[in-house]
Amino acid sequence: MLARMHPTPSHDAIVVGTGPGGATVARALARRGLRVLVLEQGSAAPIEGTVRQMAGMAAIPGKGMFIHRDASLLVQGITAGGSSALNFATAAPPPSAMFARHGIDLARQLAALQAELPIAPLPDRLIGPMATRIGDAARAAGFDWQKLDKMIRPQTCRAGCWRCVYGCPFGAKWTARDFLDQAMEHGARLLDRAKALRVIVEDGRATGVEYVRGGRTETARAAIVVLAGGGIGSPRLLHASGLRAARSSFFSDPVIAVMGTVDDVEGGAEVPMAAGVRFDGDGISLADLTLPGPMYQAFAAQAGRVDRLLAHRRTLSIMVKIRDEIGGAVGPHWASKPLHANDRVRLNEGVAMARAILRRAGATHVFSSHHFAAHPGGSVRIGDGVDSHLQAGAAGLYVCDASVIPEAWGLPPTLTLLCLGERLGEHLVATPAAVGNASIKRYNAKK
Ligand SMILES: Cc1cc2nc3c(=O)[nH]c(=O)nc-3n(C[C@H](O)[C@H](O)[C@H](O)COP(=O)(O)OP(=O)(O)OC[C@H]3O[C@@H](n4cnc5c(N)ncnc54)[C@H](O)[C@@H]3O)c2cc1C
Repeated sequence: MLARMHPTPSHDAIVVGTGPGGATVARALARRGLRVLVLEQGSAAPIEGTVRQMAGMAAIPGKGMFIHRDASLLVQGITAGGSSALNFATAAPPPSAMFARHGIDLARQLAALQAELPIAPLPDRLIGPMATRIGDAARAAGFDWQKLDKMIRPQTCRAGCWRCVYGCPFGAKWTARDFLDQAMEHGARLLDRAKALRVIVEDGRATGVEYVRGGRTETARAAIVVLAGGGIGSPRLLHASGLRAARSSFFSDPVIAVMGTVDDVEGGAEVPMAAGVRFDGDGISLADLTLPGPMYQAFAAQAGRVDRLLAHRRTLSIMVKIRDEIGGAVGPHWASKPLHANDRVRLNEGVAMARAILRRAGATHVFSSHHFAAHPGGSVRIGDGVDSHLQAGAAGLYVCDASVIPEAWGLPPTLTLLCLGERLGEHLVATPAAVGNASIKRYNAKK
């Protein structure tokens, strides 16, 4: 029987999505001489740091923002760099015991990234008055409140600036756009506003991606396809490709902001999550969370506290984040994540701690936001949807983003995803299955 002829691939690898997972794999492969095509449904227009642009990236109903029946929000960034363009830049190393349970050791990748990236606590001059007041109160109340590692270049970061939450236009915050730029310097080709529709699978092997751009449906071919569409995007793409059921359970790391007013602080413009405390065993973490005025007002309005709408510059805010149970579902056109009874217990416990800190800080008019979430993940888990090399469903097909996180989480995911992206890049050029690829052969021959 004649072997079926496939069109000659125009690229060695296609990466779908440019968040921390996708940008890292794209860079790792491009650096090793592979011809990489990157598809991103969002825009690669420069970051302006405005509420208007941020809303366009994160408040698109059904895409960047999901509203649940209980009025809670799930938010993600639809733009070059994914959610990292909007995130709070807090860095936490991957939990080594969790990954060891799945046969994965990320220590080498972590050490290399820590040496390369700006990861450190903020210097005191960048800790705002609200974070300082909260930290002092937390320590006085007996909490082990410590500065958190941030992915921020302190020499470029401006004290008294709030823009990082809308996207830092000054280049002070590390985002996955940094790695995407480096991938392109090494020859990767980025198509933004290009939405992948499905992976093309022939004879059990991924051979390309069908995508739509500018109203036209196109096909790109490659022997390696990496899905990095994030915790919601990747399970949807697998489903659209006939490789996964319509519904995937997930985690989202729900957050409640607990807020209270003080008379003697004027602030409201500072880097959020400068310091905090983690109770890993309980799955609860707390941090200062000073947000720009319009975001604060949205929380106050949602909580029905119109009396606090004008109190932004005097209101201290503490983030309570929990490790939620894996549940709910990412569906083809929606995502739903009701709180489990255990989640409510954890949130209540965290809110009680935040209230105690605010009381110690002398705050009055204390109130809590509805819960919201920004870490959708665990929807294509290692050991379930992908193997320990992140391969999914077909030869040559991989997933590398928050969806592969193997267990309930509750941590800042970005640094872990960078480690996984580096590891996958290394694996793809080293693995015999991928060595059929001419560029990888050339790279390995040169070593
Ligand atoms: C407000 C906020 C604050 C946060 N703070 C922190 C923090 O302090 N520290 C931390 O570590 N993490 C934080 N996070 C979370 C962190 O940014 C995310 O976990 C991380 O970005 C997820 O990376 P990812 O690789 O899974 O992909 P994502 O960042 O989700 O990016 C996926 C990309 O794929 C694209 N895509 C999806 N589907 C398709 C398709 N079909 N075709 C083409 N493109 C597609 C999307 O447009 C998107 O750009 C925060 C997130 C938010 C929203």
